[in-house]
Amino acid sequence: MKADPCDAVHHLADLDNWRADGPSLAVVGKPIKHSLSPLMHHAALAQMARLHPELGAWRYHRFELAPEELRDALPKFHRAGFVGLNFTVPHKEIVLGIANEVSPFARAAGAANTLHRTTQGWHAHNTDGYGLAAALHAEFGTSLAQRHVILLGAGGAARAAALQCIEDGAADLWIGNRSRERLNALLTHLAPRSKTTRVHGFDLAQPPSEIPAQAALINATSVGLGANDPAPIDLTRVALPACVYDMIYNPPETALLRDARRLGVPCANGLTMLVHQGARALSIWTGFNAPADVMFDALKPTNRV
Ligand code: NDP
Repeated sequence: MKADPCDAVHHLADLDNWRADGPSLAVVGKPIKHSLSPLMHHAALAQMARLHPELGAWRYHRFELAPEELRDALPKFHRAGFVGLNFTVPHKEIVLGIANEVSPFARAAGAANTLHRTTQGWHAHNTDGYGLAAALHAEFGTSLAQRHVILLGAGGAARAAALQCIEDGAADLWIGNRSRERLNALLTHLAPRSKTTRVHGFDLAQPPSEIPAQAALINATSVGLGANDPAPIDLTRVALPACVYDMIYNPPETALLRDARRLGVPCANGLTMLVHQGARALSIWTGFNAPADVMFDALKPTNRV
């Protein structure tokens, strides 16, 4: 088959006869139809091609694959000549076990969102932690260094966020989660890695009064994805944070962000993190800096085609 314009959703069988005019990239997930990644990557590639004309032929596709198809899919992507792959829900943990090499951050996070082609196979990276740190800088002009951080969630995204807090030297990290088992598993995982950061756990429904004011509060739970979801935490029950970042970007304003706005706390949704994790992935694949501003502009609702 001919690799068609990138709004199509491809499946495993399409890899058997993959034909493309230039190098291929893809995002892989289930479901995948609504992914914004092709839009922002094509905008960046078009801009980068002005300086590096060879990038003009690169195309970024969508693949909907089930978790049990990944083991077959990775060698097929390699034989089909793909240069790089992004993975989203529910594949980030599974691909780590299939990749041939794993970066230290992805190994420590226990999850990968980016694979880069090597001669033998695939090298796994995790750019979510970088994406979060870059987003906090872009939105609030702040870094994680020396900060008090309240992190909501203990799933894959929270793991990468927690490690980034530790890598960047956060002073305190307060992790709140609904399930105690998952929270404890994350605290145990972080204990030998926590360097200078003091890590504490709490039940999301009962935030401890010791949490200091002026923390950076980050939502890495999936509470808010549903249009009628409540906020994952009652902001009036914690000392006022300095800023609130919600990794969710669709819907663009969650109940948590509405509460923050009402309280006058600077807040932002996860679109900037999506952009910066994507820009880092594109830099890994191409070897050139990717323009995050161009990617962000491409995602503005008024600019979407
Ligand atoms: P996971 O499924 O791995 O984790 C989900 C987390 O949400 C868990 O901590 C879970 O808690 C919690 N949770 C789910 N339902 C509830 C509920 N009803 N009440 C309280 N807590 C709940 O998902 P990910 O870590 O992969 O993703 C988390 C969020 O981050 C998603 O919304 C995702 O879209 C977003 N994300 C955004 C990115 C970006 O670039 N902007 C990148 C990556 C993720 P429990 O352990 O109790 O089940």
